[in-house]
Amino acid sequence: MLRFARYVAVQAATYGLDMGLFLLLFILARQDAVLANVAAKVFAGIFAFLAHRYFTFEAAREGKQTRQAALYVALWSLNVPLSTGLLAFFLLLGMPAVVAKIVADVVCVGFNYWVSRKYIFTGPRESTAGAGPVCPACGDAMNVEETWVRRCPACAFMASALPPGAGRGVAGLGFLRTRNFETILDRLEDLLPSSGANLLEVGCASGWFLERAARRGMRVEGIEPEPGVEGACAVAGVNVRAGYFPDALDEDSRYQVIVFNDVFEHLPDPGRAIAEVERRLEPAGLAVLNLPSTDGPIFRTARLLNGLGLAGPYERLWQKDMESPHVTYFNPLNLRSLVERHTGLRLVHASRLSVLSRKGLWSRIASTWSPAASAVLFPVAWCASFVLDWFPSDIVLTIFRKEAAPGV
Ligand SMILES: [Zn+2]
Repeated sequence: MLRFARYVAVQAATYGLDMGLFLLLFILARQDAVLANVAAKVFAGIFAFLAHRYFTFEAAREGKQTRQAALYVALWSLNVPLSTGLLAFFLLLGMPAVVAKIVADVVCVGFNYWVSRKYIFTGPRESTAGAGPVCPACGDAMNVEETWVRRCPACAFMASALPPGAGRGVAGLGFLRTRNFETILDRLEDLLPSSGANLLEVGCASGWFLERAARRGMRVEGIEPEPGVEGACAVAGVNVRAGYFPDALDEDSRYQVIVFNDVFEHLPDPGRAIAEVERRLEPAGLAVLNLPSTDGPIFRTARLLNGLGLAGPYERLWQKDMESPHVTYFNPLNLRSLVERHTGLRLVHASRLSVLSRKGLWSRIASTWSPAASAVLFPVAWCASFVLDWFPSDIVLTIFRKEAAPGV
């Protein structure tokens, strides 16, 4: 946000310089108006380039001055037709002229900022982003997108430098979770040859999923790193181990189903984790991954806003500065690539789960935002939930199966 404010300040100064110089040359020095305008624009353009380079984007140390200058001139000369075209378009829509001009200018400033940031003053911003420089899903080199986020240009897998950890969940998800858990268990019953399967849930929290699985006759077990939870498990007599996957398990434990509900994206090394899952599955066993996706409308919108300088929603999706942030962010395609690259597991089911339920929405919002922010966000989210019903959801459910006979 700070950088966008700097951008706007430089643009305002540029405009003042442009207009001031024009008046000086045209009125005081009595130059031709066209000549005065060109001189003012060239001078202001050079000022804007240098100011953005050094002050807004701090891109000066890279030494790609000629390339940056050429691109900036191209962008800057695109502005006249762009703003004029937008103005004409808004006038056609019947907007009053002054409003149309303001809206066109605002769109231009936003557009210029986005292009400048994305394509012109790019550079080796220092990154602390994790998962190393190589994409675990496809092996391509990862790009730096934010100081704390890397993105694979080939498959769109994303990784953050946020410190992994266990922490409290978001409140108000009860109804949504229950509905999604029942959906997952329905799919599992379709895929399992018989009832009574032994199931492990990694990161089982207080055991809501395990309780429902046990009700359907499964033999259930959980792992939970958050201290104290194993004692307060919702199902009496369920074995919940304290600690992390796979270290908390006995070496010879094997399962017919291993489930990750909103957990896989918190693991620092997903390739190693899925290879461990395969090793711990019995032949024909199922791996269930239920996790948020980068190809849903919520993530896409938040990422776009982040590109424009409004970082709040994007950081919230990554759970930045929360106890248990997201370390990776997949979509259904690169998740499948990751699994197939590290294991012999085969995809047997892919679908989407509900992301936003109007029931429980208030407590979900109020658990992470201040009362004032919640009062603003709640009606927005409530209305957005109707729009989101029309798009594929941000949460994906994928199920992979191990080969029936090992080594075949
Ligand atoms: Zn990749």
